[in-house]
This record gives sequence, C-alpha cells and structure tokens, in this order.
Amino acid sequence: MNSSLSNIYFDTNKYWKKELQNSIKTLEELIDFLGKERIKKSPYSYILEESYKKNFQKIHQNFRFQVTKYYISLANLYNQNCPILLQILPNIKEIEDPVFKEKDPLREEIHSPIPELVHRYPDRVLWYLSHNCAVYCRFCMRKRKVSHPSTISIKQNLFSIIEYIKNNKNIKEVILSGGDPLSLEDKFIEEILFHLKRIEHLYSIRIHTRMPVTLPYRITEELCNILEKYYPVTVVTHFNHPIELTDIVYEKIKFLKKSGVLVLNQSVLLKNINDNASILEELFLKLIKFGIKPYYLHHCDEVYGTSHFRVSLQKGIEIIRQLQGRNPGIALPKYVVDLPDGGGKIPIVPNILKNMIHQIRNIYVIIMLIIKYIN
Ligand code: SF4
Repeated sequence: MNSSLSNIYFDTNKYWKKELQNSIKTLEELIDFLGKERIKKSPYSYILEESYKKNFQKIHQNFRFQVTKYYISLANLYNQNCPILLQILPNIKEIEDPVFKEKDPLREEIHSPIPELVHRYPDRVLWYLSHNCAVYCRFCMRKRKVSHPSTISIKQNLFSIIEYIKNNKNIKEVILSGGDPLSLEDKFIEEILFHLKRIEHLYSIRIHTRMPVTLPYRITEELCNILEKYYPVTVVTHFNHPIELTDIVYEKIKFLKKSGVLVLNQSVLLKNINDNASILEELFLKLIKFGIKPYYLHHCDEVYGTSHFRVSLQKGIEIIRQLQGRNPGIALPKYVVDLPDGGGKIPIVPNILKNMIHQIRNIYVIIMLIIKYIN
C-alpha cells in the first residue's frame, strides 16, 4: 500500500462534508467533470444527446442523481462496461421497466409497525435512518424512498422506535440502514448507539453503509472514536467491484478495525458489472486483504426500475460453482436470494441444488422400479 497516504487521512468532519457538498448533482456537472471532448470519443457519447438529457431529468425526479468526485474519478470512460459508470448513470429503464413492476417486492412497508422501522423477521429490525447517500446507485433496492426527503421524520420517531425495540424482547439485532446512516451527523449516530446499547436483549448492532466505497473520507477519527466507545459494532460495507478497493479505502478500513469494528461486506450480482467469476474472485480476495469479510452476495431483487441489472439465477449459480475451489472459504460469501412477496432470504448453494436434483432423480428411479415390480 502507498505509505504516502498517511498524509491524506483527512480525518475531519469538515472535509467529508465539503466533499459531499461539492459532489456532482446534474448532468451538466458530470459532463464538465468528465470532459465533453473525451466523452465524444467514448462509448458514453450518448449522454451528450438531447434525448438523454430529457430522460435524465425525468429519471432524476424519480430517483436523484448524485456522485462524489472521489467515486467518479475511479471511472474509465473508454471501457463500455465501466463498473463505476454503469452503477451511477441513469437509464430510461429505471422509469420504464419492461420486466419488474413492484416497487416494494420484499414487502418492507407492510412490515413496518412504525414509520422507518421494518420488522420482517422476529429476531431483527431494520431502521431506515436517512434518505441521503453520497452516491445514488441506480440498482438500489429501496429507490422507492431513498433520495426522497419526504420519506423520513427521524427525530420525531426516535423515541417511539427505541420504545418498540425495548418492548420486543425477541429482537436481538438492529440494522441501521437507509439511505446511508453515515450521512448523518456524528452526534446523532452517537445518540442512537447510546440508546440502543442500553437495551439488554440486543446482541448486535449493524451499520449498513456505502460510504467506505463512495466517500471513504467519511471514516473520520471522530466517527471511529464513537464506534469504539459503543463496542462492539459491525459495519457492513457494499463493495461490488475490485476497482472500488483503493489505497485510501485500505487505510480507512484499517482505521475502522483498530477501533474494534467488525467489517463485513455485501455485494450485489450486477449484469455487465461483476457477473463474472474472475471479477468476483478478485473482489472477494481483495476484500480479505483489506480486512473485510465477504458476507453476502445478493441476487438482485425484483424491484421496479432495476431489471436491466438482473443476472439469471442459473448464471449466478454457475459463477458461485466456479468460485468454489478457486477462493478459500473465508473469501466466499453466501449467495442469497430474497424471495419476492416478503418470502425471506434463502441461501443458494450449487452443490446442495445438485444433490437435491440427484435425490429427486433417485426417488423417481425407485418409484419406477416399484411400479415395474408390482406389475
Ligand atoms: S448507497 Fe445503498 S441505499 Fe444508497 S443508493 Fe446506494 S444502494 Fe441505495
């Protein structure tokens, strides 16, 4: 790792907030940043067309566009499958999805006893803490509410949510999510951790955040001190491609881990971005090298506006099969599918499927033999 990075820690709250303020929020700013002449010669020249500009506005009204300068600087304009650009560039299919029709197929809203709290499984709750993110990922499974300011009134609901968790002794884990919970002020994060840590029946607090990917400067000394104070806390990051694991990320994850934080990662299997065994092999190995345990690989949920990211289940299983034996167990996450209609998460294990098919075939042969014998 580059040792000169120790000079660019930027461990102040002032720095990440400024970075966030200066992030790119319009198509014009994006074109300016990437350079019109360079775009013209690239596979992304379509973003200069009038029709794209019109669509961009329509999509943006539905689910905002925003990208940090740090994250976009990882892009390669001359790669037609640039994993960064494909994750952030609005696509008309987001508002004209030919396949998926449901905005909330996982039924989070009907499992919400209090606004902003999802209680889908008896032992855990998910707390929607913020509608803001540093970057709006076009495949977001919660895009029905993320980026919409009207979806949150967090300060009003804080005490009713804490009371709800206190009164439900089956709840063992709280997942702080959103949007991105690390888009909140440190003092508010501390207040939440303070209240949660006083609840005896809670065993686990997880913070789900994409900040280490899209704005790693958010991992400040101040934040790490808070996380250390409320030890143990788990941070679940969301790296989808090895290119996102930069030197600055390495330094920041090391910093988090020194504060006693357990760092896990969940990725989403995304078409033309990481739907390839070699890319995932490198991603999971690099995560381990960075001190992050690959935890889940999600099959993309059937959310309206995301079908162009979806890979077939068959392809996903084949990729996982190829990875077995190539990566050590520690560098193999669980491949999971969240069933539509709120059916819950199920792990997909290629060999189990193969064994099941084998068993069914055996049973079929036995039945056929019995029938033959009787006759
Ligand atoms: S950071 Fe997470 S919540 Fe925010 S847009 Fe990306 S996937 Fe959605």
